[in-house]
Amino acid sequence: MIPGPVEFDPEVLRALGAKTTSHVAPEFIAVFSRALKRLREVCLAPSAQPFVVAGSGTLAMEMAVANLVEPGERALVVNTGYFSDRMATLLERYGAEVVQVRCAPGEAPDVASVESVLGSGRFKVMTATHVDTSTGVLAPVEALVRAAGRHGVLSVVDGVCATAGETFHQEAWGADVYLTASQKALGVPPGLALLSVGPRALAAWRARRTPVRSLYADFAEWLPIMEAYEAGRPSYFATPAVNLVCALEVSLGQIVREGMEARFARHQRMARAFRAGWRALGLRMLPVSESVAAHTLSALYYPEGVDAGVLGRVREQGAVLAGGLHPELKTRYFRVGHMNVVGPGDVLATVGAVERALAAAGHRVEPGAAVAAAQGELLAAR
Ligand code: PMP
Repeated sequence: MIPGPVEFDPEVLRALGAKTTSHVAPEFIAVFSRALKRLREVCLAPSAQPFVVAGSGTLAMEMAVANLVEPGERALVVNTGYFSDRMATLLERYGAEVVQVRCAPGEAPDVASVESVLGSGRFKVMTATHVDTSTGVLAPVEALVRAAGRHGVLSVVDGVCATAGETFHQEAWGADVYLTASQKALGVPPGLALLSVGPRALAAWRARRTPVRSLYADFAEWLPIMEAYEAGRPSYFATPAVNLVCALEVSLGQIVREGMEARFARHQRMARAFRAGWRALGLRMLPVSESVAAHTLSALYYPEGVDAGVLGRVREQGAVLAGGLHPELKTRYFRVGHMNVVGPGDVLATVGAVERALAAAGHRVEPGAAVAAAQGELLAAR
């Protein structure tokens, strides 16, 4: 129950373990073609160009930056934590002049403040982290993306801890790049970097004056490959992660069958049930209010007298949780992922494991109260 890698569906894992074909075998080309088409559906971005490349989420971030930003251009980072810091580091590495709007840990960005900075001048891109995995904060990305659009600034949204779990309508909202990774709500083991790049972002890349500094990250290398696979033609730049792409095609098929709105709603229901359990245990969330709390993970302060040692006890009780990540607070809180195949059984088992571990650590709990609270929420949501 960590915020990625998550639990994967057996059918997805079977695709991963199947015999590896040639990357230009007709059956693999057909699989890759379907995966690309399904990615458009998952991002709700019919006019965008999907990219699926072997690498982790950090590569997806680097591809967005390397292709969109030229040295000396200005970038605005809406900073909600650890992964926004990483975005700023990448932008600086590629020569951007970076301005940041920083939030205190647990707070969501204030759209009006971001908009006033956007209006102060000449930004090429604005980046935002949809769910910052270090704080469990859900950023108001629709409003941020629309604000960037009003100022003619390209928007790049890091969806690594959100895609296929948090509501996101790339095209309707006007997000120019949605970047993500395989190992969280997309339901595929780690190893794929994915991007959905809208027409304005592609036009900005085509209008570059300088070459992209990274060969492996360059859209110029990958665009013809993605177009060829989607059209059913063999093509090669760098060997694709054949089995991961096969697993992706299966997982995206399951996601599309569930339906995006139904999937977003399921993640919301499970998050509400977890929160009811946490409240009953007297645990305080790191996000300052429920309205800015992610539905893909919970970030919770340890209660008085309890420290990270309790995670070992939770593990003994059958659930693997993650420690803190935000540099300012990391010893003071822990994280519980609730993405992909998460269902009522996972909620009750995890809340129960935390309840028993806290009791063993000397925290006062009323036996069964947290599980009952989560169950009550699950029943109310039926
Ligand atoms: N952005 C966010 C929001 C993340 O949660 C992560 C990974 N936890 C990353 C970027 C980086 O992804 P990866 O670890 O796959 O490189």
